[in-house]
Amino acid sequence: MSANCAQFSEELVESYSLGRLAGEECARFEEHLLVCPVCQGRLSESDAYVSAAKAAAVSYARKPSARAAASGRTGFFRPPPNC
Ligand SMILES: [Zn+2]
Repeated sequence: MSANCAQFSEELVESYSLGRLAGEECARFEEHLLVCPVCQGRLSESDAYVSAAKAAAVSYARKPSARAAASGRTGFFRPPPNC
């Protein structure tokens, strides 16, 4: 990325995306964000990264139930009882 913002660092944009900016700093950045395409671009990139990381964490958390569903499916292939 060659685009540069003189007022806010990439780290700060990332912090905002993670909800780590507080109070005045957050308000100042939001105001700046309305007029700065560089920060808007960074924020959407950071948001995409953050939501991808969250989605990965969620799918990891769901693994045990996915395993349970898979073992339930092997039950489906159990040979039928003899009549
Ligand atoms: Zn900016």
